[in-house]
Amino acid sequence: MNKVNDIRPVKNKLRKAAKEYRTALSKSEKEKLDRKIENKFLNMWQYREANTLLIYVSTDIEVDTTYIIKTALNDGKKVAVPKCIDGTRNMEFYFIDGFSRLESGTFGVFEPKTEECEKLEDFSNGLCVVPALMFDKAGYRLGFGKGYYDRFLAKFSGQTLGLCYNACLKDDLPHGKYDKRVEKLVTQSKIIITNEPKGGRTR
Ligand code: ADP
Ligand code: MG
Repeated sequence: MNKVNDIRPVKNKLRKAAKEYRTALSKSEKEKLDRKIENKFLNMWQYREANTLLIYVSTDIEVDTTYIIKTALNDGKKVAVPKCIDGTRNMEFYFIDGFSRLESGTFGVFEPKTEECEKLEDFSNGLCVVPALMFDKAGYRLGFGKGYYDRFLAKFSGQTLGLCYNACLKDDLPHGKYDKRVEKLVTQSKIIITNEPKGGRTR
């Protein structure tokens, strides 16, 4: 049996726990945490200096990204949103200039209307906000279980970052050979640089 198969049930159990935590968060508590995470993110130099932000549109159980998208557009940044390609586990990113360029797509997630938006071709200087149900302190992530971002990050050369509630930040997550790490994590209380020794410097 290969290693990836071994960890599948463990990952699924953790996914369930992460979803339960997020579903149990009250609306007001979630909003409080989301505002703190957004403010930390928007004050980071990685955000300030980025020309292009690659970012998903959050669902109800994720750290809210809509305020970040709105602010980035107001700040004059290019904002590119992923679109899952039917019949594959690959994504493409398209520039949006407002929320009217979005429609409900794969898995009920808001995705760009591709016929109205320009496709992102040059990924080299982008800052990618990577979704996950949980992260660990080394930046490994537990996604929704389809591996879209593992496939994408294998070819992505820009910067990577995750937004995460403290309760969904683990010391150590199981990871397989395809799992990719993010370089930075932002929680409601800290920013973690994950490629430092001993699982990250915090500030
Ligand atoms: P997620 O990252 O969404 O939590 P997993 O890490 O469990 O999901 O990955 C889902 C599936 O996709 C796994 O079977 C994994 O082996 C596969 N996978 C991920 N990345 C790649 C890749 N680059 N090439 C081939 N298969 C991949
Ligand atoms: Mg993975």
